[in-house]
Amino acid sequence: MGELEASKGSANVKVGSDFIRARIMEDNASGRFDGRVQTRFPPEPNGYLHLGHAKSICLNFGVAREFGGQCNLRFDDTNPVKEEREYVESIREDVRWLGGDWGERELYASNYFEQLYAYAEKLIQMGKAYVDDLSTEEIREYRGTLTQPGRESPWRNRSVEENLNLFRRMRAGEFADGEKVLRAKIDMASPNVVMRDPTLYRIRHAQHHRTGVDWCIYPMYDYTHCLSDSIEGITHSLCTLEFVNNRELYDWVLDTLGVYHPQQIEFARLNVTYTVLSKRKLIQLVREGHVSGWDDPRMPTLCGMRRRGIPAEAVRDFCARIGLARADSTVEYAMLEFCVREWLNDHTPRLMAVLDPIKVIIENYPEGQEEVFDMPCHPEDASFGSRKVPFTRELYIEREDFRMNPPKKYHRLSPGAEVRLRYAYFITCREAVLDATGRICELRCTYDPASRGGQSPDGRKVKGTIHWVSAQHALSAEIRLYSQLFAVENPDAAPEGKTFLDNLNPDSLQTVRGLLEPALASYGVGDRVQFERLGYFCKDRDSTEETPVFNRTVTLRDTWAKLEKKGG
Ligand code: ATP
Ligand code: MG
Repeated sequence: MGELEASKGSANVKVGSDFIRARIMEDNASGRFDGRVQTRFPPEPNGYLHLGHAKSICLNFGVAREFGGQCNLRFDDTNPVKEEREYVESIREDVRWLGGDWGERELYASNYFEQLYAYAEKLIQMGKAYVDDLSTEEIREYRGTLTQPGRESPWRNRSVEENLNLFRRMRAGEFADGEKVLRAKIDMASPNVVMRDPTLYRIRHAQHHRTGVDWCIYPMYDYTHCLSDSIEGITHSLCTLEFVNNRELYDWVLDTLGVYHPQQIEFARLNVTYTVLSKRKLIQLVREGHVSGWDDPRMPTLCGMRRRGIPAEAVRDFCARIGLARADSTVEYAMLEFCVREWLNDHTPRLMAVLDPIKVIIENYPEGQEEVFDMPCHPEDASFGSRKVPFTRELYIEREDFRMNPPKKYHRLSPGAEVRLRYAYFITCREAVLDATGRICELRCTYDPASRGGQSPDGRKVKGTIHWVSAQHALSAEIRLYSQLFAVENPDAAPEGKTFLDNLNPDSLQTVRGLLEPALASYGVGDRVQFERLGYFCKDRDSTEETPVFNRTVTLRDTWAKLEKKGG
């Protein structure tokens, strides 16, 4: 299993370098948890993991590893209605992909249902919890607001015996959904709204993915989470900023019950430009068919990014670079692309493909002749080896590499101009042949036999080098050119009457027919490659025997050159 280390060239993350690591060091120094570090990653299995979760995974598993501790994978499965087995399996796969190692500790909040129930009875016996008959709407109404205190429920002062009896009957299934809840008895006038007698249990006659129909009452998140942490002996419970106000309740439950007490620490959630990172919205994109599925390569889900060709190392590098903060902020999507390029640059072979072909005929190259060039697969790294590339009289080059009327400093092909075909020969364009509509359909060229291997025979300079494929040998492929799923930096900010869906980028997927050099036939699904001068691509699982499919992971460069300089 991979290490949760930032890859080469990344920002160096040192132990103690952020406020969470500093805090853990303090606790270790004071012996607060006997020097133990035990974290957990607690996804709710109600959707696929996304880039935001990656931040939490890297943090929780990273911290555990750095301090010689452990990190649990805990499924926070307290809501029977929205959770599914499919999600559990995908989460396992995605955490493993990122290098998270939970050992034997695949845990479920639902494992603790019996224990949580016992704790609830204990709270009732202590006079710290009561059964309430108010409806959900009434409870909300009674809760008050930030500026107004709440009102006490008329059922708040039931006796311990009555509460116990009612709670047991709730468990036994005597009541319908919503008829009663169990609430903590804290303080309806608390300035912290979370503390105004929060609901601990509600009735849900539903099938749970693990406990089946054993239960018809289910514990709420705030109640479950702290006790699960306590039961597992978590030392540092790292969560996102929106739980700041819930910390008081976290502490209240554990202190009131007098059980082992982990430390909750909040950090800022990850937001990324041009991206939505909310499960609810991602589900909507999938359900309404705006994307092809959870692993659509445009999705910010871990499976989508993986399918797009983004390596786990790049995601980890990204998470290391963005660091940890206590205030919310938004990270540039370009930062992720930068990390992706950094890694792919060093780790992928480079081959040739033509995505918008135009035919070239080398008039002085004998018909039927074929030469095979042995070309290195990486210009700077011999460990990538080489491959055989056939050269013939008829070739394809990129349409963009020819101009009838070239602008100044255009070093590629134009009438009368000479270019180098990568690793092959110099060619000169003699004539552009137009079809009936006036579109260029063929370039008639000549080659210089003395320039074999793309070397100048006499010291004459040829500035442009272009890629090519042999027409006779080219493999036809489907190429999926992806760009941002959303057209605006902040897709969540939609004007009145519009939603984030109105911010979708209509051009986020462009599919073209490409022509590949034959060596690409041996590539398997998931393999990554640079198509020279075009970008990084990854072979997709939709590939068939006849037609390989390649996803563009990222282009070679972006418009954020500044960032590249700073980062590299
Ligand atoms: P969403 O709001 O998208 O539904 P969630 O927080 O409800 O996400 P969980 O499955 O509960 O999703 O998340 C598991 C863990 O991942 C939690 O500890 C949560 O704080 C963390 N997490 C989720 N989204 C982000 C994010 N954008 N940045 C950092 N951590 C995140
Ligand atoms: Mg959550």
